[in-house]
Amino acid sequence: MDRGELLYEGKAKQVYRTPDPHLLIQHFKDDATAFNAQKRGTIASKGIINNRVSEVLFQLLEEHGVATHLVERLSDRDMLVHACRIVKIEVVVRNVIAGSLAKRLGRAEGEPLPEPILEHYLKDDALGDPLLNDWHVRFLGLTNPDELATINATALRVNGILRTYLDARDIVLVDFKLEFGRPVDAGRGALLVADEICPDTCRLWDKATGHKLDKDRFRRDLGGVEEAYQEAARRICGIAA
Ligand code: 5GP
Repeated sequence: MDRGELLYEGKAKQVYRTPDPHLLIQHFKDDATAFNAQKRGTIASKGIINNRVSEVLFQLLEEHGVATHLVERLSDRDMLVHACRIVKIEVVVRNVIAGSLAKRLGRAEGEPLPEPILEHYLKDDALGDPLLNDWHVRFLGLTNPDELATINATALRVNGILRTYLDARDIVLVDFKLEFGRPVDAGRGALLVADEICPDTCRLWDKATGHKLDKDRFRRDLGGVEEAYQEAARRICGIAA
């Protein structure tokens, strides 16, 4: 399948049309940004790794009956996906306190949560993706109550599936971000897990040492960024990416 017109360019990906209006190609770049693009850089081979890791994790979800936008990985950096209208909510699920939750609640990073915490953020770079509650979601008309219930239940289900898979690979799934899309092809159902699931969008800590295998190494200038992405890919995909 050939790439057509460039539809959209984000921080880490480009999205292209294909000859089929129901299908798009996601192209994964090595570009990395953090803190709402105030920090910029590149991580060698990140695009290749994120494409492979996303493929494996989307396939895992599909095997468990969770519908995703994955059609197939086309090449090192290209993934064929079902075209969707993206719901403008970033869904974050947390199992361990870290990142913005640690800051917001004034708690130490690393404290396990007794049950997962689910959060919604507005997908809006210009506003810095602000935290939303259900009233904000309703006021902004981002979804409807039935769809929101499906989104929340699916996100928690995805958390259970990913946690088990990653735990078996000695990785703690600290938290992650999901995006959902409404497929353009009505035959694909109402809602798909979309975007990507990879070390850019998850916090992944080594189970024994707590060593970070994710984008926090870049965000926080911890060093060993490329090695961490390679190690995450090795454990998740079973191969060196
Ligand atoms: P936090 O709110 O603690 O910064 O992020 C929580 C989790 O969601 C982390 O795993 C983080 O990687 C992911 N996340 C939240 N917002 C974004 C975003 O805009 N881009 C990316 N790549 N990940 C995000």
